[in-house]
Amino acid sequence: MARDLRPKCRLCRRAGMKLFLKGVRCVTEKCAIAKRPGPPGMQKRQLSKPSYYALQLREKQKAKNIYGVLERQFRRFFKIADKSKGVTGQILIQELERRMDNVVFRSLFALSRAQARQLVRHGFVFIGGRRVDIPSYLVSEGQVIQLKVNEGVKNLIKENIQLSAKERSIPDWLEVDKQNYKITVRKMPGKEDLTVPIQEQLIVELYSK
Ligand code: SF4
Repeated sequence: MARDLRPKCRLCRRAGMKLFLKGVRCVTEKCAIAKRPGPPGMQKRQLSKPSYYALQLREKQKAKNIYGVLERQFRRFFKIADKSKGVTGQILIQELERRMDNVVFRSLFALSRAQARQLVRHGFVFIGGRRVDIPSYLVSEGQVIQLKVNEGVKNLIKENIQLSAKERSIPDWLEVDKQNYKITVRKMPGKEDLTVPIQEQLIVELYSK
């Protein structure tokens, strides 16, 4: 499977925000955003004002980096959003939010979406008694997601919850039972829940050319 091997902290610095791509490092003072804010490679030269196309491209890259999806998958999400009724940009982000790896991350059970993806791939996640080991699985309203984990992973998740709570909170559309490692999808993420700092309109314009 294709993987994005670019240096993670550079992606955050390029986006100008924490994307939580490295796990525990992201919640410590070692985070590159805390130590060296500003885009990478900007020490010696001043870049000219970016073109509108560059801004559109950057916004798409940011969204892909946040959710950890590659171009082909991202384009597939865009096609789904484009065919749906409603505001395309919002539906695009909504679909990305519904990914299982994102749900596990949002529930604070993992420090990064990459770590959440590992928990899913390793077969710890169940819906209605059936194992779901596909990180791109899209959750639906009313579903109850159960993590069945061994003692070692339980301790890891407990630690993750403590560390993540310093930086993030659980969104309203999810209900999390931390004691029993259970997540309930109360509703689909609404406009008010889409708090990722992405100007989705720029992405829609880019793909609509
Ligand atoms: Fe690096 Fe994580 Fe900080 Fe991003 S949030 S700069 S990945 S340590």
